[in-house]
Amino acid sequence: MKLIMESISENESFARTVVAAYITRLDPTLEELADVKTAVSEAVTNSIIHGYCGKNGEIEIICGIEGKEVTIQVSDKGVGIPDIEKAMEPLYTTKPEWERSGMGFAFMEAFMDVLEVISEVGKGTTVLMRKEIGKEQAE
Ligand code: ATP
Ligand code: MG
Repeated sequence: MKLIMESISENESFARTVVAAYITRLDPTLEELADVKTAVSEAVTNSIIHGYCGKNGEIEIICGIEGKEVTIQVSDKGVGIPDIEKAMEPLYTTKPEWERSGMGFAFMEAFMDVLEVISEVGKGTTVLMRKEIGKEQAE
């Protein structure tokens, strides 16, 4: 599944609804659905406010399902992240004046099984996340 959309805040809820619909065939619990939606929201919001700084740009979302695992990739061609390790630290934010709490990556990490951030300054950022659906029922 591939979705290309404009980097406007209205598309944040659209993106998380599309991904939620995409994973329904894995029969997720309400909790798993909420986890995935939150992670997608955080990644898309980051592309809009940090990647493109509120300016126009394209956000690309690519999803795949392999067995019970969903892979979600959110990419922008925005400003990029100079220090990825630092950016991923909980409570670290470069926009404290915008009342950001610096918890986006921490949430993505907590709610998904795998989180990888690939970024180059001036080129953009890709956030790759994976989550196995239906783990709890199987255990
Ligand atoms: P919150 O998500 O809690 O509102 P936040 O967005 O600042 O606050 P994180 O989502 O954890 O916190 O991101 C941490 C920092 O990483 C951001 O402040 C920003 O500097 C950088 N960052 C994250 N995503 C991107 C992106 N797509 N492009 C450029 N910089 C990014
Ligand atoms: Mg954020």
